[in-house]
Formats: sequence, structure tokens, C-alpha cells
Amino acid sequence: MDLYEYQARQLLEEQGIDTPHGIFAQNSHEVAEAADKIGYPCVIKAQVRTGHRGQAGGVKLAKDQDEAILSSEQILPMTIRGHKVSGVLVAEAKNVLHEYYVSISLDRSSRDFDVLATANGGTEVEEIAKEHPESVKRLHISALEDFDIEAARKMAESIGFYHADVDQAADVLLKMWKCFKDNDATLVEINPLAKIGDPDDESTKKLCALDAKISLDDNAAFRHDDWKRFADTSHTDLFEERAKQHGLHYVHLKGEVGVIGNGAGLVMSSLDAVSGAGEEQGSGVKPANFLDIGGGASAEVMSTSLSIVLSDPQVESVFVNVYGGITACDEVARGILAALDELNASKPIVVRFDGNAAQEGLKILKDADNPNIHVSDTMEKAAAQAARLAEPGKETN
Ligand code: GDP
Ligand code: MN
Repeated sequence: MDLYEYQARQLLEEQGIDTPHGIFAQNSHEVAEAADKIGYPCVIKAQVRTGHRGQAGGVKLAKDQDEAILSSEQILPMTIRGHKVSGVLVAEAKNVLHEYYVSISLDRSSRDFDVLATANGGTEVEEIAKEHPESVKRLHISALEDFDIEAARKMAESIGFYHADVDQAADVLLKMWKCFKDNDATLVEINPLAKIGDPDDESTKKLCALDAKISLDDNAAFRHDDWKRFADTSHTDLFEERAKQHGLHYVHLKGEVGVIGNGAGLVMSSLDAVSGAGEEQGSGVKPANFLDIGGGASAEVMSTSLSIVLSDPQVESVFVNVYGGITACDEVARGILAALDELNASKPIVVRFDGNAAQEGLKILKDADNPNIHVSDTMEKAAAQAARLAEPGKETN
């Protein structure tokens, strides 16, 4: 069983190997939250069971929340060399001074363990190994021999670690070996094992695992109850599936107020406004979903979006928040009416329009004279009204 990077890092951390703090996330909302926790700059890394993610565009640096969200929106839908991305790791970005490569793998034929290392680690390691095979050192750990700190130190010296890094490298090698044995691994690879820190301050420099690849021996599963935690948790949510088929950015959440808006940032603020209103009103009402109709959405996209949200039995009210730019509010208004015509729905919808064609949009809604449609002129007021209308036992008007 091949582990995802974020899982492999867990196993390294359990042995005390330094890895930058990271949080696994599966949608833009989780990414925004994780990135704020990690701090900026951070790296957004595709979690996929294959290597060369960097070269495929699956590793990106983000300097603020907007960039983190944008990068994750590019990475999450990716398929890298036939592997669907299952999520992203949002990790602290480090200042990299040097990149080493180290791996321990099982050599089934000789029944011992290969240690491979090179001082030229990083994304090009395979090309470098091909062109300069002498730069890659190979040693063995025998199954019968003791591999202790002295042996690790000798090994670190002979596999090409710079003098200043030998002590730390020995420590990492020993811990990798422990990780390998304790977990019945067939491969433990760190690339890059990076030297990080401030180039002008010796005391800040240290070795740190920026990426890890671990394969576990499936034959040993019977003695590792803890491997259950590595089982794929990607579940299918019917609403998320439907939204995906229509190319919509939708995330199912646990609350009662459906939220639809244009632009990830605006939808995110709308979610916050709804949660805030629910708290303030004492009902604890929360958003039922994230749905971004994107830029330049047509009446049809809006109508599909509203149908998906209204078909969710969890939803008690809907908040539509559109700041018209490329998206014109009159188009959105027509979409809302089209969906309501089709669905014969009776859940209240609170609409806030601003920007391009806002007045035209509001006029279309007013002319339709549908008692379930409410309009509000600010995001806060609209969110508060939607939250109130979602309270249990509330009438629709
Ligand atoms: P891979 O391409 O699948 O092996 O993905 P990696 O996790 O190894 O990332 C690819 C490359 O991105 C690394 O070799 C680093 O050069 C770079 N990288 C990854 N994390 C960081 C980081 O925290 N800081 C910096 N500066 N570079 C990073
Ligand atoms: Mn790597």
C-alpha cells in the first residue's frame, strides 16, 4: 500500500523526524481555513499516489489566502499521470538552502535493505542519477546487523552528506530505519531532505523532510491495526456529484442555509456572514453548502445551482449573493425564476444584488411577485434574514 505524502509525513513525525507543519484539505473552504492556520507563505501540494507532482504543476507556493484558494482550485481537479488528486496538503513553506535525497528500500532478492542517497536531491533526481550515476551512493543495511548511531554516522559520511550535516543526517537515517522496521515498510523515501533556514544565521539551519514517500508491505497488514487510518476516506456526496457534473464548485456543509454566490471569496464571506448571524440570533443556524457560480454565469447556470441547493432536504432557506461584474444580475434573476418555475419550491430565498445590472435584476424579481423571494440591499442584512428564515418553525414570510 502506497501512502499519500500527508500520511507518510505522519509516520516520519512519529519517529521524531522534522517535517514542516501541514494540514490535509479537500475543498477551497478547508484550504482557506488550513492556510490561515499554517500562515503565509505556504505550499499547496497535490496529494496523489505518484511522484513528480512538482513537474506536473501539483506543488504551488501561496503568499496569501487568495493565492492558496486559487492554487487549490487548480490542483484539486487534476489527474497526475493517471492518478486523481484526492486532496491537497497545505504546508508551511520553508526557505530551502539545499536538497538531499535519501531512501531505504527492501531488496527482496538479497533479503537486505538498500540505502540510496545523493547530495543532489530534488525534482530532477532521476535525471541527475542517469547523467551522473557516480553522484548516487548505494549502501546496505543487513537484516542481521545492528544499525546504530555509529553505523548511521559512517553511512551519512560515505553517502555524501556535507560535513556540517553529518550528525543530523545520521539521526535522520536512524529514524528512517526505525520507521521502516516499525511499520513493515518496503520503501521510505525523503526527497527533498532539505537543509532549511536563514542563510546568514547558522543556528537556524537544519535538515527537514519536505516530501516523503512510504510504501507498506500489504502482507504485514494483519499486525497493523493502525493502518485502518490510511484507508481512503473519499466518500461520494450526491449533491457534490451532481454539482460536479455541471462543472460547479460546490461543497456540502452541515447547516441549514443554502449559499450561492459568484467568486470563491464572496461565497466564503457569505458563509461567514450566515454563521455570524446564526450565532448572533442565538439559533446556531449555519450554511448548508458552498456554491460558487463563477464569473459570467448564465441564467441556466444559476437555475441549475438553485435546483441543486433547493433539492437538499437540509436546506431551510437560501441566500443568493451576487456582485455583478462579468456576471450580470438580470441573468441571475432570470435563472432564479426559471428554477422556481420548474421546482414549485416553497423555501424562502433571500437575494442581494450589487454591481452589473443589479437594478434590472431586482426589477425582474419584483415583477415576478413571488412571496418566497426576498431582497435585501446589503450582505449582512441578507445573511441575517436568511438565517432567521432558516430557524426551525419559522414561517416562510
Ligand atoms: P514531488 O515533485 O512530487 O517530488 O513534490 P515535492 O514535495 O518534492 O516538491 C517538489 C519541489 O518543490 C521540491 O523539490 C522543492 O524544491 C519544492 N518545495 C516543496 N516544498 C517546499 C517548501 O516548503 N519551500 C520551498 N522553497 N520549496 C519547496
Ligand atoms: Mn519530492
